[in-house]
Amino acid sequence: MKEIRILDKKFREFITEKEIHERIEELARQMNTDLAGKDVVFLGILNGAFLFAADLFRLIDLEVRISFVKLASYEGTSSSGSIKELIGWNEDIKNKTIVVIEDIVDTGITLDRIVDELVIRKASEIKVAALLYKPASYTKDIPVDYVGFEIPNDFVVGYGLDYNGYGRNLPSVYTLIE
Ligand code: 5GP
Repeated sequence: MKEIRILDKKFREFITEKEIHERIEELARQMNTDLAGKDVVFLGILNGAFLFAADLFRLIDLEVRISFVKLASYEGTSSSGSIKELIGWNEDIKNKTIVVIEDIVDTGITLDRIVDELVIRKASEIKVAALLYKPASYTKDIPVDYVGFEIPNDFVVGYGLDYNGYGRNLPSVYTLIE
């Protein structure tokens, strides 16, 4: 079992590169069927989803577009502290089928924030794809239509996901060793 160290923490390989790619092939096949004939825009959520979005997107065999947005924290003027703002919109969302591409859905707060914005921008249909999904910590009702892997509530890194900025370049997903 492969173990690695990032900064002060140790991680164990949890989902291999091969398993990730096989699963992405299955998701892409399903999407190629489900999304045929629709006006589709993939919306990747930076930073974490960049590898998943790229690997998935190149297996999509339809006329689709892709765009990326990023959640930025900024200090609000109120005392409530940091608020997340979605930045980088450069695609017309109105009347389109939007496929949100997330690295991981944990509590679902991020996803909820993104879906709110897509509703305001009048997307006709919203689908969600997440490489990883932690059902035990999910607090929202938004369906996650395409799930790569359901995982327990442990901290993971690799394949786009970071620990303090590092580990995104790892080709497999690793889990924290307690
Ligand atoms: P949510 O808003 O669903 O609670 O969390 C989504 C975001 O939290 C993800 O896009 C990711 O940035 C971060 N996150 C949640 N769980 C993990 C994890 O296990 N590892 C890493 N590296 N990030 C996580």
